[in-house]
Amino acid sequence: MIHDGSSLIENELDLQIRRAAMAWLDQRCTDNNPLIRRDELLNDFYFEGTRLPLVDPNRGIRKPRSMVAALSILTTYTPPGRRSPYEDAPAKDGLLRYKYRGEDPQQPDNIALRRAYQWKLPLIWFYGVATGIYLPRNPVWLVGDEPQHLQFAVALDQAQLFIPHNAELDTDQRRYVERLTRKRLHQPVFRERVLQAYEKSCAMCHLRHVQLLDAAHILRDSHPQGIPAVSNGLALCKIHHAAYDKNVLGLRPAGDERTQLELAPFTPGLA
Ligand SMILES: [Zn+2]
Repeated sequence: MIHDGSSLIENELDLQIRRAAMAWLDQRCTDNNPLIRRDELLNDFYFEGTRLPLVDPNRGIRKPRSMVAALSILTTYTPPGRRSPYEDAPAKDGLLRYKYRGEDPQQPDNIALRRAYQWKLPLIWFYGVATGIYLPRNPVWLVGDEPQHLQFAVALDQAQLFIPHNAELDTDQRRYVERLTRKRLHQPVFRERVLQAYEKSCAMCHLRHVQLLDAAHILRDSHPQGIPAVSNGLALCKIHHAAYDKNVLGLRPAGDERTQLELAPFTPGLA
């Protein structure tokens, strides 16, 4: 692609903002505290003394005026029982898709995303885990544009960057791509959604030490693709997770969307 001088300067500023935003996020969102609130995304990041919201107040695609391409995309949290219409549309290359805004490929937000795709610019994906609370994934890249389906293909890490868009993968290759998606996105989102639903405490002993909490699956592998529903999750400390896995603990419904645990009757000789 040929740029005149002005677009080179614009590109340089775009890259500086992009790098600064990701560095700020990496500092703000650590392993122990990975989530960020919407008001922080709107108010807390500054570039050279000027506040620069990392999300758009009204829509999923964010393109600051000072940048040449989109900076971030956002997926809204879907409450239990409601399935996101966009989530996890299957594709033969195993890569996730992100839908255009509306149905016009030339809509400005879609053009802003297309520039990020054409110039291979890294983006931030804010994934909703509760109302107004997000798990950031960055960098991600747009690796394919599909105007006929009104969507872009997304690579979640360096390894997925090497998957050719719309590649015909064999079963093992496809499993590999999907395993990366689970590790980079689906499992972390499931964990944070479950911990949010259980207010970051063990359902059995109410321990609130996040580093010692797991999001346990009630039914194992019921959703090999996509993000398992929160209703299939249970926040448990490491000890009670192990006890549940060994059938020392049993389950009963709590009457709301959560599940409560109780000690299962001990049966001598039961594995
Ligand atoms: Zn516990």
